[in-house]
Amino acid sequence: ASSIYPFGGTVRSDDPRSRDKTIVGGKGANLAEMAGIGLPVPPGFTITTEECVRYLAHGADFSPELKDEVAVALRHIEQAAGKKFGDAADPLLVSVRSGARVSMPGMMDTVLNLGLNDETVQGLASASGDARFAWDSYRRFIQMYSDVVLGLDHHLFEDVLEIAKEDNGFYADVEMQAENWQAIVGEYKAIVRSELGRDFPQDPHEQLWGAIRAVFDSWDSDRAKVYRRLNDIPGDWGTAVNVQAMVFGNMGDTSATGVAFTRDPATGERAYYGEWLVNAQGEDVVAGIRTPQYLTLAAREKAGAKPLSMEEAMPAAYAELAAVFDLLEKHYRDMQDIEFTVERGHLWMLQTRSGKRTAKAALRMAVEMVEEGLIDEKTAICRIDPMALDQLLHPTLDPDAPRDVLGSGLPASPGAASGAIVLDADTAEKRAERGDAVILVRVETSPEDIHGMHAARGILTARGGMTSHAAVVARGMGRPCVSGASCVSIDMASRTLKIGSRELAEGDVITLDGSTGQIMAGKVPTIEPELVGHFGVLMEWADRHRRMKVRTNAETPDDCRTARGFGAEGVGLCRTEHMFFEESRISAVRQMILAEDEAGRRAALAKLLPEQRADFHSIFEVMAGLPVTVRLLDPPLHEFLPHADAEFEELSEAIGIGVPTLKRRAGELHEFNPMLGHRGCRLGITFPEIYEMQVRALFEAACDVAQTGDAPVPEVMIPLVATRKELEILKALVDRTAAQVFEEKGRTISYQVGTMIELPRAALMAGEIAEVGEFFSFGTNDLTQTTLGLSRDDSAKFLSAYVEQGIFARDPFVSLDIEGVGQLVGLAAERGRETRPDIKLGICGEHGGDPASIAFCEGQGLDYVSASPYRVPIARLAAAQAAI
Ligand code: PEP
Ligand code: MG
Repeated sequence: ASSIYPFGGTVRSDDPRSRDKTIVGGKGANLAEMAGIGLPVPPGFTITTEECVRYLAHGADFSPELKDEVAVALRHIEQAAGKKFGDAADPLLVSVRSGARVSMPGMMDTVLNLGLNDETVQGLASASGDARFAWDSYRRFIQMYSDVVLGLDHHLFEDVLEIAKEDNGFYADVEMQAENWQAIVGEYKAIVRSELGRDFPQDPHEQLWGAIRAVFDSWDSDRAKVYRRLNDIPGDWGTAVNVQAMVFGNMGDTSATGVAFTRDPATGERAYYGEWLVNAQGEDVVAGIRTPQYLTLAAREKAGAKPLSMEEAMPAAYAELAAVFDLLEKHYRDMQDIEFTVERGHLWMLQTRSGKRTAKAALRMAVEMVEEGLIDEKTAICRIDPMALDQLLHPTLDPDAPRDVLGSGLPASPGAASGAIVLDADTAEKRAERGDAVILVRVETSPEDIHGMHAARGILTARGGMTSHAAVVARGMGRPCVSGASCVSIDMASRTLKIGSRELAEGDVITLDGSTGQIMAGKVPTIEPELVGHFGVLMEWADRHRRMKVRTNAETPDDCRTARGFGAEGVGLCRTEHMFFEESRISAVRQMILAEDEAGRRAALAKLLPEQRADFHSIFEVMAGLPVTVRLLDPPLHEFLPHADAEFEELSEAIGIGVPTLKRRAGELHEFNPMLGHRGCRLGITFPEIYEMQVRALFEAACDVAQTGDAPVPEVMIPLVATRKELEILKALVDRTAAQVFEEKGRTISYQVGTMIELPRAALMAGEIAEVGEFFSFGTNDLTQTTLGLSRDDSAKFLSAYVEQGIFARDPFVSLDIEGVGQLVGLAAERGRETRPDIKLGICGEHGGDPASIAFCEGQGLDYVSASPYRVPIARLAAAQAAI
């Protein structure tokens, strides 16, 4: 196979490799494609990514045939352009650009105007009749080449130019005349000589090979590596090199250059959108040296700008360009991001690619393109990045507003919020009741902070990862949250804190961006989400194409209502412990835990029963006949214990047991490893009366609701099961209690009893466990924690190093470790089905809202995924994409 593919001129290649992004890179493929459909593309050739990979593997050595192939390809450009490379009279100049399989904006290198030297610059001057243009091009080339290929700091050159302008009394580059540029060229060459001890290369072929080498080398530059890591781009793809005849937008007032989108990338509106500059070269538009002008008359008028649009200033070239826009959109069936140049009235296309866009624009374009008949529904569904919907589901910071960034943490729950800093949950609640917007800032949160989290507009924690308590609860509530911000240190004694280097006090206003993890001083303005219109239409399409159901993780009627509004088809996980932490109940819960015997526990549970029944009642009402998976108490008891002396005293007063006794009991309940301790079904085994109360509350509520409304569909779920026997004992408890309630109420409700699969042993023994359990819900938070032996609450501190070093591609608490943990899921699903072919399978760990994990669940044939309310639309879309 060839390592070079020419394009443009008379080339008509039917070799599919010449348009294959994996071989010739995205830019090369699109240039070949454009040339192929007859668009004006300057002739050129592409050296393949395979050659780059080979070059890097062979210690920066080209394959032996490459020299000859480049010589042949160069002749193709010379013929098509009618100029010769290195010709002293009328030289061919080329650009050399990188182009990987996916675009990596600004990450790799480009050299323009290559082929100029002391001789050819004269030829360019006389052939173009424009000496100023020729010398300007030469100085640009020396600077770019010195930076990219020779490794010299561009500031050396910029400083010289600034001084020259000052000396001449010039303000802008355009004031520089031919002789000024010629003088600059002399100074630039002197810089190269003094820095490197040798002259700037004069041989165009030496220049070309130097540039090719630099592009290949740039694949392994530090910034490219960082970009790849952040964007999950494999290091073994390599980049292609595109060598192309130069065309010039800086040949006077009939020349121009610009960038354009075929639709508005911010709003999605079907209108050309772009910027251009007369008498300029491409980098002038991007670099912001001159202010670019509007492309269309409509845009100029709307902005009330003076300088003529391209539509007015160059009507013929503009008309040609507009026709190209339409052709390209029809051809690629997507919004295109285009670079073009007009050289003395003649239009040239330099690049096209699918344009980046906001989530809002993506939705509008996808829906309108279906209406226009450009794409079908499935394509539209697959066009939208599910995670990008997050941008639309929460208020977001105004992108144009200035930001005073103090520091950052993990982007734990998206959206933006501003408010006064409060350092504890009670204060948060009190201030919120007074109508203040507050941000709760804690070292980390615990279930006791729930009321404060609910009262706060946003949550900031110094510790904890993406599945820490703060993160999970905040996502569930739709509160923006930045977690694990190690730049935050709190001094509770003085009620002050430091964020980064800045000293702050309780009451100071900050802003959180939960989508990026940024923490900012003061209030940054936000914009509200819109969930209607194109968003709704696309969601309907997604629902038509998905197989898996989407449920929600919710434990309050409010959350259930929010989730239903977002299209949830049931509750996949109702964590009943969240109901225990409410102010009115916590002392009864503590009384229950600290009781010395069963009788003491029962007395406390009797107080909790009506409260819990009321919770279930309202949830069943909101969910109106949709399935609700209720998980019985799960967390380690020690989480409910009082800590401060005042709390012990308060409790002592409330329940009439002395403080010393309470403290002794609390000491007995202390655990070294609570996540592996007295929690989950182990609580039900040792204190069956707790589960009995919960089950009773649940079925009493179900019977009551069934009397007037839709019959609830409860699924009772037992957490942290490792053995069949545990489930057997607890299922019997559930059945027994349910039967009692049905007898008392004179009504039956059909229900199921199942288990979470969240321990490796449960996954391995799933065949046996399915003999008892009627459904499985994969608790992938704990399953990840226990399979990797990695604490969900402590790993944030070092996990980023693991991701950076490529040990994990992504945080395994965010995106399922499919290779490892995924095996256990697959195995449990298979063994469960062997025993019970109709067993219902779902996932309720945080992964239920992660698109990659959802795709995996589709592959395993799970029946549903369950995600926090604000992730429900993301899950609906991801499930549809997985099914398509
Ligand atoms: C799980 O472990 O994945 C789960 C959903 O339960 P929790 O997060 O409440 O432990
Ligand atoms: Mg769990």
